[in-house]
Amino acid sequence: MPAQLIDGKALAEHIHNDITQRVTALKAQSRVVGLHAVLVGDDAAAESYAQSQAKHAGTVGIDYQLHKLPDGSDEAAVAALMQKLNNDPAVSGIILQLPLPDGIDADRIQPLIAASKDVEGVGAANFGALAMGRPALAPCTAAAAFECLKSTGIDISGKRAVVIGRSNIVGKPLAMLLLAANATVTQCHSRTRDLPAMVRAAEIVMVSVGVPRMVTGEFIAPGAIVVDVGTNRVSANDPENPKKKKTVGDVLFEEANVKASHITPVPGGVGPVTVAMLLQNTVTAAERMAE
Ligand code: NAP
Repeated sequence: MPAQLIDGKALAEHIHNDITQRVTALKAQSRVVGLHAVLVGDDAAAESYAQSQAKHAGTVGIDYQLHKLPDGSDEAAVAALMQKLNNDPAVSGIILQLPLPDGIDADRIQPLIAASKDVEGVGAANFGALAMGRPALAPCTAAAAFECLKSTGIDISGKRAVVIGRSNIVGKPLAMLLLAANATVTQCHSRTRDLPAMVRAAEIVMVSVGVPRMVTGEFIAPGAIVVDVGTNRVSANDPENPKKKKTVGDVLFEEANVKASHITPVPGGVGPVTVAMLLQNTVTAAERMAE
C-alpha cells in the first residue's frame, strides 16, 4: 500500500493562516512586522528568491523590504547596513541573500546580524540556544522538515530517528529538534558504516544529503516515516528535449513510498514549508521585540 503523502503546500498554507493572525494581532498594537533582506550585486537567482520571499511575506501581512547594494560595495558598507537594520525597531528579521560577490565574506557578515533578528536561524547564537534547549530561531529548513514530521500526528517521544546528513543548517539542527522532542537520535553521514542497516532500524528517517535518490527502498523499515529535504536537479530523460531537467529528492520516492507509512514528495514536501518557517521566525522575532 502506498504511504500517506505529507503535503507541504497544504501544511504551509495552514501555517500561513496562523502567521496572518499573529501579524494582525501585532498590528492591532501598532507594531510593525518587517522582514528586511540584504542583496549585494546582481545575482539573478538571489533576486528571484527575494521576489518570491516578498510575495509570500505580503500574503501574511509582513512588510518586506529589499536593500540592494551595488556590485563593488565593500564589506564595510554591508556591515554598516547590517548595523543600521539591527538598530531599527521597524526591522523584525534580517536575511542576507547569498551568494555574495567576490571580496565579501558571508562568514564575516552573517555573524553581524543580531541573534534576535536572525530569522534564517543560521547564526551561532541561535544554533547554541537550540542545542541547549532554549528558545531559539531554528534554521528554516530543519524546522520545516520537523514540521512535516509533526504534521503526521505521531508521538515522536521515544521513537528511533535517523538523520542522514550533518550540515550546520539542516542535519545538525534537525537532530537537535528531534532530541528536544525526546526521540532517540542517530546522526549519519558520509563516513557512516552500513548506512542501509542503520536507517532500517529507524521509525523516523530524515534525509538531507544532496545525492539524488540515494535512499532506496532497502533502507526503509515497513511503516517508517520518511522526510526528504533533498532538492536535486537531474535530467528529465526526455528524448525530445535532452536539456530538460526535473527536481528529485535524496530518496528514491517510488521505492520508499511502498515501504513507508508517511512520506514527503519532492517537490511539494519540505520546500514550501521552509518559506513558512522563515515567516514564522519573523513573527516570533517581532512578538519577542514587542514583549
Ligand atoms: P550539505 O551541507 O552538502 O551536507 C550534506 C550531508 O550529507 C553531509 O553531512 C554529508 O556527510 C552527507 N552525505 C553526503 N554524501 C553522503 C552519503 N553518500 N552517505 C551518507 N551521507 C552523505 O547539504 P545540506 O545543506 O544539508 O543540503 C542537503 C540537501 O538538501 C541538498 O539537496 C539541498 O539542495 C537540500 N536543501 C533543501 C532545502 C529546502 O528548502 N528544501 C534547503 C537547504 C538544502 P559529511 O558531513 O560526512 O560530508
